Amino acid sequence: MEALPDLTLHRPATLAELRALLDANPTARLLGGGTDLLVNLRRGIDTPDVMVETTRVADLHGLSVADDGALTVGAAVTLERLAADPAVRAGWPALAQAAEAVAGPTHRAVATVGGNLCLDTRCVYYNQSEWWRSANDYCLKKAGEMCHVAPKSKICFACFSGDVAPAALVAGATVRLSAPTGEREIPLTDLYREDGAAHLTLAPGEIVVSLTVPSVAGWETAYRKVRVRGSVDFPLAGIAMAIQRTDGQVTALRLATTGTNARPLLVDGIDALLPAPADEAFLDTLERLMGKQMQPMSSTFTPQTYRRRVALNVMRGLVGGEGLRV
Ligand SMILES: Cc1cc2nc3c(=O)[nH]c(=O)nc-3n(C[C@H](O)[C@H](O)[C@H](O)COP(=O)(O)OP(=O)(O)OC[C@H]3O[C@@H](n4cnc5c(N)ncnc54)[C@H](O)[C@@H]3O)c2cc1C
Repeated sequence: MEALPDLTLHRPATLAELRALLDANPTARLLGGGTDLLVNLRRGIDTPDVMVETTRVADLHGLSVADDGALTVGAAVTLERLAADPAVRAGWPALAQAAEAVAGPTHRAVATVGGNLCLDTRCVYYNQSEWWRSANDYCLKKAGEMCHVAPKSKICFACFSGDVAPAALVAGATVRLSAPTGEREIPLTDLYREDGAAHLTLAPGEIVVSLTVPSVAGWETAYRKVRVRGSVDFPLAGIAMAIQRTDGQVTALRLATTGTNARPLLVDGIDALLPAPADEAFLDTLERLMGKQMQPMSSTFTPQTYRRRVALNVMRGLVGGEGLRV
């Protein structure tokens, strides 16, 4: 691990101050709880001159349910608070389960919703010390010219491994963004693209201000992840589900994955299969549909074929409602 680089840390108290600091320092890095970013700084992956912290910005700490039933969570709300909030636990179980499944308790006490949604992608060739990466001639994601995972590829296959995004995606969430030019709201799915080196679509200086999750009343929602170390670990695969069942038929279904692609993946094309009974034939069809869209690569310590099998088995357990067939 490297020593932290010399840098100036700003700790604004309002969104207007934070905006002004980012506008005045276009190369500044935004710091949430720092549970991922600080590790990357200590690895020499990032060497910012200026960092601007979100956690003291009062405007980013809201957590409220509107009259239309939608939940809005500020970007600086901690995952500990999100997971423990009674309204979230009752109304958005998958979201609470996902927040509760991130890292360990001490991480969650400071880790923020904004930091989790904007979590950097991960790869065994990237999350390494400076000397390790330099000895390997770096990689496509940072300072190098080749993706060691897919040497002929022009794009990077580092993997998105945040837990909260899939749970929010299956509820049809949106994010509010603040840019030097003003604010805008976009579907959460549009925050991401399938490129491990540039998986966020944020414009320069643009930040996430809040996450809004519509009511999921009438839906059964769940988030399940599998990880190597049960007490504290990134998902080797995580699946979020929102489902409606009527008279033994699945009438509505949304599935999203993490740990499988360079972005959290909202599975496409499920509507065309519904209504359908949640039987083996339907689960086989879902497997084929998801299997084509997932792209686990050898970017993590667990083999890609294993992660694919785990993701599909977790999906079968959730949709089939009969426990995991692992
Ligand atoms: C041992 C260990 C285990 C972990 N396990 C998991 C896990 O199981 N699941 C998981 O999801 N994560 C895991 N993490 C990663 C991390 O702890 C979490 O993802 C956490 O939620 C990140 O939030 P943060 O506030 O600390 O982000 P930070 O580290 O502060 O920031 C992360 C990134 O988000 C950007 N960012 C922060 N806030 C905003 C914003 N409002 N708008 C735009 N960009 C922003 C930062 O610039 C940075 O690039 C783990 C980390 C460690 C060290």
